[in-house]
Amino acid sequence: MTHPFLDLPPLSAAHFASVEDRVARLLGTEHDVVIMQGEALLPLEGAIRGTVGPGNTALNVITGPYGQTFGNWLRDCGATVIDLAVPFHTAVSAGQIREAFAEHPEIDFVSLVHAEAATGNTNPVAEIGEVVRERGALFYLDAVASVGAEPVLVDAWGVDLCVIGAQKAMGGPAGVSAVSVSARAWARMAANPGAPRRSYLSLLDWKERWLDGGRKVLPHAPAQLEMLALEACVERIEAQGLDAVMGRHRAAAAATRAGAVALGGGLEPYVHQAREAAPVATTLRTPAGVVASELVARALAADPALPLAAGGGALAKEMIRVNHYGPDATVEVVQGCLAALGAALAQRGHSVDLEGARRAAQDAWR
Ligand SMILES: *Cc1c(COP(=O)(O)O)cnc(C)c1O
Repeated sequence: MTHPFLDLPPLSAAHFASVEDRVARLLGTEHDVVIMQGEALLPLEGAIRGTVGPGNTALNVITGPYGQTFGNWLRDCGATVIDLAVPFHTAVSAGQIREAFAEHPEIDFVSLVHAEAATGNTNPVAEIGEVVRERGALFYLDAVASVGAEPVLVDAWGVDLCVIGAQKAMGGPAGVSAVSVSARAWARMAANPGAPRRSYLSLLDWKERWLDGGRKVLPHAPAQLEMLALEACVERIEAQGLDAVMGRHRAAAAATRAGAVALGGGLEPYVHQAREAAPVATTLRTPAGVVASELVARALAADPALPLAAGGGALAKEMIRVNHYGPDATVEVVQGCLAALGAALAQRGHSVDLEGARRAAQDAWR
């Protein structure tokens, strides 16, 4: 008997290229799209190491933990790094980016995370892209948490390097990822003596061995199951309609936010402004004296399947993450999370309005 995961025919170059083309369509880009055979950190790191070296000045926007990681890679590459950190309860503004350029006209690279699942904020990429383009810098964007949850318009926004993974709002696999690369970004890489070459991190290898040869021969055996899963997940998004998928995420975020406010008990949206809150996941601030990780543990004891987590590191004390993405972007999951958090707060003696929360979430979903 053939096994559905194991006894597969080899994945052809044409098949691989067709998956790349579908991802390009999803991102609204005519740029080259390279699908990399690893989790999103692979292209995130490869794109920075490929384009940045000594002599570059990078503006690194920090709106959550990933910005911190990018800063470390940029410094590692020998770049001068200007960190622009904003509090996790807000987003960065295009005005702040403009000020940074005014102060440091030598900035020639900007790294930004579109939406942060870990902090629940989303940044105005379209407006920021305008500023970056005016100044001629290279624009690097981590769209892992935004793709599928909100529009990601690579060409319209002037993004030179856009990295996505399928494991969040796309509801797909975590083991492959993709990066779109503009002609300007390829030129920077070609001129960068420090860009990885003959390396798993190398985008130039993919250009020379795959793209420049007309995508006829794969450089090595692809991660076949993950490629098939990525194709299936893009197919499912196409079938449901990208707008419908994004609409589900937007509704889940609005319902979680409205439900948490109506629940009371001291729970508050972590991101102050609704327009700065990411559709992919909603973060909540616990009331004084309530440790977020303990509240989440209580809620999960009642229902371990709920997509609840405490914030990472120091945020574990005060931040709850409701990861309502992919298959969990449903009104039932949101209602389950609110009910479980409400019950956990009530156990601790907080007064909560469970029925009010349920109604508010239901109304906001529509
Ligand atoms: C989830 C995420 C990634 C990928 O990281 P994993 O923790 O491995 O899933 C990268 N960037 C951002 C902004 C993310 O939210």
